[in-house]
This record gives sequence, C-alpha cells and structure tokens, in this order.
Amino acid sequence: MSKEFTFKGLPTAVVFTYKTVATIFSSIYSLLGKNGANALLYNAGHKTGKFYVEEIRKITGLRELELLNECVRGDFMAKWGKFEYTLDFDKFEGEVKLYDSFLAKNWVKVTKKEQKYPVCAFIAGYIAGEIESIFGEKVIVEEKACMALGNKLCLFEVKKDVFGD
Ligand SMILES: [Zn+2]
Repeated sequence: MSKEFTFKGLPTAVVFTYKTVATIFSSIYSLLGKNGANALLYNAGHKTGKFYVEEIRKITGLRELELLNECVRGDFMAKWGKFEYTLDFDKFEGEVKLYDSFLAKNWVKVTKKEQKYPVCAFIAGYIAGEIESIFGEKVIVEEKACMALGNKLCLFEVKKDVFGD
C-alpha cells in the first residue's frame, strides 16, 4: 500500500530556490525598467491573489476574515513570508506588513547590486487581489518599505480604489 499526500483540490506545486526567484524577478526589472516591471508584476500578482482565494474558498467554504486568515496561513506555509494585516475593514484602508518576503529576502545577496526601489510589486498586487476577492472591495496597494532596501520588513499601504467601480 502506498501513502499518498494530497492537498485536496489544490493544483500541484513547484519549488524554486530564493536565487531562482530573485534571478527571474530581477531580470524582469532589468528588461522592463521599474515602471514597466511594476505594472506587469502588480497585474500578475493581482490575478494570482484572486485565483488563490477562489481555490481556498472552494476547498474550505470559509468567508471574509476566516478566509483571509486561511490564506495568510497558506502563504506562510508556502514560505511566501508572514503577512500581518492591519486594516480598517469598513474603509478598507491600512497597512500590511510582510516579514521575510520570498521576493526581497535574498534580493541583494543574489543580484549583488544596491537596490534603489522596492521590488515586491507582485506581492502588492497579490494583496489587492486577495482583498478584492474576499471582500468585494477594490483597493490600491503600494509598497512603502522593502527588505531589498535594507528595511526589516516589507510594508504595504492599502487604500480604497476610489476610481474602481
Ligand atoms: Zn519588498
């Protein structure tokens, strides 16, 4: 008899080293420049966040804050880092702290260059996608501090998207 470990309903996963992750993402910044890379990665992160929430909702049946907690737990288990949400859930404003961002953690060590701007636009988009999918509110998320810049953590500012529908 064989033992099988499955994560019910979740797609199969693939593991990358930090070096590979930093190499892929820093190549995108090199090729597209800061603004182009930020736009592309925020958009990709947004879709990823929405997709992930939909999967977890389907599997667990959870909603709202319980669903957000489950997503944060899953992100931590998958070594994306430790997210801490401090949001006013009436206004959808506040901040999200991320300790040990899988993107920024080893960025300077791998790229061997001094970093001049935050590198976690993918995660900013991811947070926005999760919030939108869980609560049905459009928000804009901007990274204000980043481990790649030598900060202790990555800090994301969350604002309601007043131009969203
Ligand atoms: Zn960062």
